[in-house]
Amino acid sequence: MPIQGVRICGAKCRTKGGLPCGQPGMKNGRCRMHGGVFYKRETHGGTTLRAIQQRKKERSILREMKAVTREIMEKC
Ligand SMILES: [Zn+2]
Repeated sequence: MPIQGVRICGAKCRTKGGLPCGQPGMKNGRCRMHGGVFYKRETHGGTTLRAIQQRKKERSILREMKAVTREIMEKC
């Protein structure tokens, strides 16, 4: 039974033969099973916020280096 005042998820369920999900939704309108992660949090390994920022920085440096290389190659 859906809780009053809370939007139900309504995602198409694969286990119920395509019936809409009746779980109460979160802030993003989907329940905990269908909503996915909609908030950033500190996790471990390659998905920590610091690791993501590090990769972002590395990518931007790489892009810069590629642009410089292209410039040099064009001059030759
Ligand atoms: Zn759901």
